[in-house]
Amino acid sequence: MEPKIDGLGVALYFENKIFKRGATWGDGSKGEDITPNLKTIKSNPLKLTVDTFLNNVEFRGEVYMPKDAFREMNKKRIKEVKEPFANPRNAAAGTVRNKDPKKVAQCPLNIFIYSISYYEDDNFKTHWEKIDEIKKAGLRINDKVIRKDGIEEVMKYIERFRNQIEDLNYEIDGIVIKVNNLKVHEILGTTKHHPKWAMAYKYPPKRKTTKIKNIEIMVGRTGKLTPVAILEPIKLSGTQVSRVSLHNEEEIRQKDIRIGDTVLVEKAGEIIPQVIKAIKKNRDDSENKFEMPQRCPICGSAAKMIGSKVIRRCMNSQCPAQIKQRIEHWGSRNVMNIEGLGPQLLNKLVDKGVVKNIADIYDLKVEELRKIERMGKKLSINLLEAINNSKERALWRLIFGLGIPFVGEYIAQILTEHYSNIEELMNVFPKELEKIDGIGPKIAKSVVNFFNEEKNSELIQQLRQHGINMIAEKEEFNNFLEGKKFVFTGALDKYTRDEASKEVKKYGGRVTSNVSRETDYLVVGKNPGSKFDKAKEII
Ligand SMILES: [Zn+2]
Repeated sequence: MEPKIDGLGVALYFENKIFKRGATWGDGSKGEDITPNLKTIKSNPLKLTVDTFLNNVEFRGEVYMPKDAFREMNKKRIKEVKEPFANPRNAAAGTVRNKDPKKVAQCPLNIFIYSISYYEDDNFKTHWEKIDEIKKAGLRINDKVIRKDGIEEVMKYIERFRNQIEDLNYEIDGIVIKVNNLKVHEILGTTKHHPKWAMAYKYPPKRKTTKIKNIEIMVGRTGKLTPVAILEPIKLSGTQVSRVSLHNEEEIRQKDIRIGDTVLVEKAGEIIPQVIKAIKKNRDDSENKFEMPQRCPICGSAAKMIGSKVIRRCMNSQCPAQIKQRIEHWGSRNVMNIEGLGPQLLNKLVDKGVVKNIADIYDLKVEELRKIERMGKKLSINLLEAINNSKERALWRLIFGLGIPFVGEYIAQILTEHYSNIEELMNVFPKELEKIDGIGPKIAKSVVNFFNEEKNSELIQQLRQHGINMIAEKEEFNNFLEGKKFVFTGALDKYTRDEASKEVKKYGGRVTSNVSRETDYLVVGKNPGSKFDKAKEII
């Protein structure tokens, strides 16, 4: 018996004890090669131990993301204005397929090996022998894998295990029960989809019913109105749940959720709680249909759907709810890192009209803070010092902090690799931005639109007057091609030859016209000429 890990099935091939290849299971016959990414998983050895007789062998396993790592990752994604992953499985699947192993290495994926699927001199008699050999070979076996005799024992174990699920640092959705004797495996055979000698017992997800007391509207940093169900509190998977996002009005319409409804709420492990459905037979006509407001509940401005059929936004950029969240984002640790600029203080500062935009926090005075928040002198001074220190942050933090839709930490960093000051970025055309690897039309348009708005360019102007750094550190990015010689041949997709040369020179590289032994990089486009052949000769 083994916990059924809710991760991503993989196959690992070792040749002469050395890890050679790894692939996702895919549809069982065709998966994706993810070898470099699997190499980043620390518990996955690159070489089998000398203790094992296994040499050329294929293992089966499950890559997963530990729950604690998943929580951290989602926290980070929310801060970066990226959609959080719905569950650890999706997070693991998304990560393991990432094209950049460096990024994968930053994510703490882990792996459990559970079987040997191929071995050249296969003379194993039982599944348990395989397990022992996997351990000997130095691969990671789940310590909950256990051998039980008879169905009674199996049932007992399943019952007992139910109470342990919450304490595990990984998601499981059941227990797999396998026949130990490999001869029996042969007799039982497999169906088209799965072996007949293994069976999964699935635990039902954690669900409970409760009542929706009300539906409130939350106004986000970009003005997005999100309906949130206020529940009669329930305990699910060990945590108290009293508010659940209903996402948008379309979702409410589809599920026909009404205020006063009894609803089924699910939280399978780490998944953010969700309202699954309304229990309609419990209705007694006291329920009220929810109508999405046409106006922002905070500032009363029109809330419109623009470019979306489901998302409604408060169109007033001076909306207090938006201002508060924008400044909170600006001050947060991943952005300008201003300690002490919390939501409570911001509520007061914005409500009293002292702070109307990000730039205003740089005008705050000690006396003001002491009066408004009854802050101690030392605390006020510390906060102002933290605000002052934030002027020296890297350019990407400023760009991230502005809250441009779709521009998170990562995109902001890419942008500063290509634009060394905010001025350059403000004058860019969408087409030019799209040439940058990692930036699609949606982001490009969003960046250009943002800076085209007068109030945003005004904000930049104000921030500049306050002395906020608006230049990327040149050394960091600009000379990384120093001393490198480039030659181009053939037609490039996104650049003319001239543009490409310019890019190379911008970062300190040199462009020459002939291939020689001195050439560091030959960039080969469509229909390359003789330079390509010459390069092959030289190598
Ligand atoms: Zn508003």
